[in-house]
Amino acid sequence: MTKPTTPHGPKTQPSAAKSDSNVPPHLFRQAVEQAALAISITDAHANILYANSAFQRITGYEQNEIVGHNESILSYRVTPKLVYESLWAQIQRQRPWNGLLVNKRKDGNRYLADVTITPVVSEDGDTTHYLGMHRDVTEVHRLERQVQNQKTLIESVVDAAQVAIVLLDEKERVLLDNQEYKKLIGDLGKEPAVRLLAVLRAQMGEVFTKAYDKHRNIAAREVCIETAGRPTRWFSCAISWFEEHDVGADAFYDPQRRHYLLLTIQDISELKRQQEALRINSLRALLSEQERIQGLRETLAGAVYQLEGPLNMLSAAAKMMERKREGSDLPAASALEEAIRQSREVLETLRGCIPEQGIEAMQPVNLNEVLVDVLKLTTGSLLGAGIVVEWTPSGDLSVVTGNPGQLTNLFKQLVTNAIEAVNDRRGGQRELRIACTSRADHLEVFVEDSGPGIPDDLRYKVFQPFFTTKGAARQHLGLGLAMAQEVVTRHGGTIDIDPGYHNGCRVRVQLPFAAGVNHV
Ligand code: FAD
Repeated sequence: MTKPTTPHGPKTQPSAAKSDSNVPPHLFRQAVEQAALAISITDAHANILYANSAFQRITGYEQNEIVGHNESILSYRVTPKLVYESLWAQIQRQRPWNGLLVNKRKDGNRYLADVTITPVVSEDGDTTHYLGMHRDVTEVHRLERQVQNQKTLIESVVDAAQVAIVLLDEKERVLLDNQEYKKLIGDLGKEPAVRLLAVLRAQMGEVFTKAYDKHRNIAAREVCIETAGRPTRWFSCAISWFEEHDVGADAFYDPQRRHYLLLTIQDISELKRQQEALRINSLRALLSEQERIQGLRETLAGAVYQLEGPLNMLSAAAKMMERKREGSDLPAASALEEAIRQSREVLETLRGCIPEQGIEAMQPVNLNEVLVDVLKLTTGSLLGAGIVVEWTPSGDLSVVTGNPGQLTNLFKQLVTNAIEAVNDRRGGQRELRIACTSRADHLEVFVEDSGPGIPDDLRYKVFQPFFTTKGAARQHLGLGLAMAQEVVTRHGGTIDIDPGYHNGCRVRVQLPFAAGVNHV
């Protein structure tokens, strides 16, 4: 809309009213009279000498009611004095003036007039008259204001929204953003939208490219942003597109469309942290239940194992007695046989009480994730023991076919052993290193501690059931590594202790890749 200012148009040149042979003088009058624009001609003091039909129609004044009056008759007296002063200053310099004035019709109703005043300069260079032209732009102004109000409303709603909102053009340049988005710039650096879109593009691949190229909306997707030295952030990002018709004059009869991308970003880091804490707690509960059952299995299996020895000796003794009595009835022998029979029954009952190992389906398991879970589960013990942890995940896809619960238990057992070993050593480094590495056809995990290490002659023995270097006082049955070996064997892998490592103990676990997973 034209602003109520005084544009510096060209100075009006005095010109002799040349009559064009092709345009008779009365034609000028007819043309002015019938023009759709309100036209008036005044003397040098703005007293109206002539007003055309459109002027009469817009203002409501008849020709005889208006002629002789000053143009100020139209003033509603709310237009600032400064506007009139600048109007007069401009036209007195013989320059045209254009601006907006609040006018009042004969019936008192107001309207907004877009007024242009041009001085009429005589051959002597004097301003003798003024030509006034105006049109009612009340409706245009109302619509413009309405659009402006809506824009302001939308901007304040967008600005107050609790999610980050950003509008990008097709070259991913930011056109509009809100307060939440500005906060993200502080957190993630410039330009968060471009960074998030790049992650989405990498994450979704061709699906993203197709949707993007065809301007199709993308429903909320989770995006993870890792920044060195800062906690991982999670965002839920959704893309919607809208198109705008080009407002340029050249596109008036040839509409061009422009596409804009609206990206809404919701920070879900806290939610993710809560979900993760919940998952780790459930995993901890599951593992502790599994440990309880494993403990029961160990205790009962140990008791059966311990009882079997003396019972076998008693059976041997009973057989010897049987041979010696040579058919004669020996009450003591019968009593012994009965005791052995009953003991065997009790032993079988005891064996039957050993709980079954839980059966979990084999599935693709990401070892990096398992090891991270194990570190989370043992964080308390590691911190309590003041152990420095060095964790090196495999850079490649580290997927094996396995049982997530058993694999978690396996590595938790190895980490627990490592913590105990470090605690056993007084002084020196207190370190735990875990590394997962991709080999040609398998994954290799090292669990290294800076404890006292395992002597060479015990390297194989430690995997035997009921073998322990820790003694009964430490409540160890010596089944931890035996169980670990059982799990590794069940997964088609191997476990051993590196004889070449002398700074503590290094346990190596090798597990075959999941079928169908290609590795370089
Ligand atoms: P005024 O006393 O008329 O003027 C206010 C200020 O304008 C003064 O302080 C002075 O600086 C300046 N001024 C006024 N008259 C003169 C003059 N003759 N010489 C030098 N400076 C002067 N006004 C409208 O409100 N609506 C219109 O549609 C409109 N159309 C106009 C069309 C033409 C062709 C011209 C020449 C003027 C038009 N005016 C219009 C301006 C109008 O003449 C008045 O100046 C204005 O309405 C203010 O009136 P006023 O009675 O409030 O103050």
